[in-house]
Amino acid sequence: MNELGIWLVGTLFFIVRYALIAGLFYGVFYVWREKKFLATKIQQKVPTRGQINSEILYSLSTLVIYGLGIWLFLFWIQNGKTKLYGNIGDYGVLYFLCSIVIMIVLHDTYFYWTHRLIHHRSIFKYVHLTHHRFSNPTPWAAFAFHPFEAIISLGIIPIILFLIPYHQWALIIFITFLTVYNAIIHLGYPIPYLTLSTYQNTGNDHNLHHRGVGANYGLYFNIWDKLMGTYRKFDEDW
Ligand SMILES: [Zn+2]
Ligand SMILES: [Zn+2]
Repeated sequence: MNELGIWLVGTLFFIVRYALIAGLFYGVFYVWREKKFLATKIQQKVPTRGQINSEILYSLSTLVIYGLGIWLFLFWIQNGKTKLYGNIGDYGVLYFLCSIVIMIVLHDTYFYWTHRLIHHRSIFKYVHLTHHRFSNPTPWAAFAFHPFEAIISLGIIPIILFLIPYHQWALIIFITFLTVYNAIIHLGYPIPYLTLSTYQNTGNDHNLHHRGVGANYGLYFNIWDKLMGTYRKFDEDW
């Protein structure tokens, strides 16, 4: 497959995965069972069609940029520069599973600190304000970033590729988990039975972040927020 083909197939794969995951959450909570769940919505106002279209357009532009990233990553992978290994048996199933957890922990750290950076007052309005335009987000906002933020968020991939031995399926599972988790924290509804620990970043926490309270910068966990004093517990008054 030539380079254009790789970009097209990769980008299409990202878009289909995003559409299925965000579409499933949106379909259940905003269309199919809206009446059943509406009373539990974190913010009662219903997002406009214009907002949702904008969330989708920005997310698609991010996924096109992610598709372009594949070119660079494949160049490194095909030239043997990364720590890719071919058979799960090379490191065993236990390591395969641990490597996914390591990717999530690394990503949470990368996300927290880059997120703090793009909240700096000298950068915020040029880059991250795009994502914060959606103060009452839906799952479609999962990747609704300014193009520069899309590039920053892609930075976690080379960190993983060069730092830890990884199997291609571990990477694919990690990125799919990331997409699901991103849809959940932008859902606009809490899903209490998915909160397994008090160290988890929840839909309530991230919804509060979208309202510009200057807290809750984490992605999967609130550990960095708690360590750095930027955690704010959600309560019903918000
Ligand atoms: Zn933010
Ligand atoms: Zn967000």
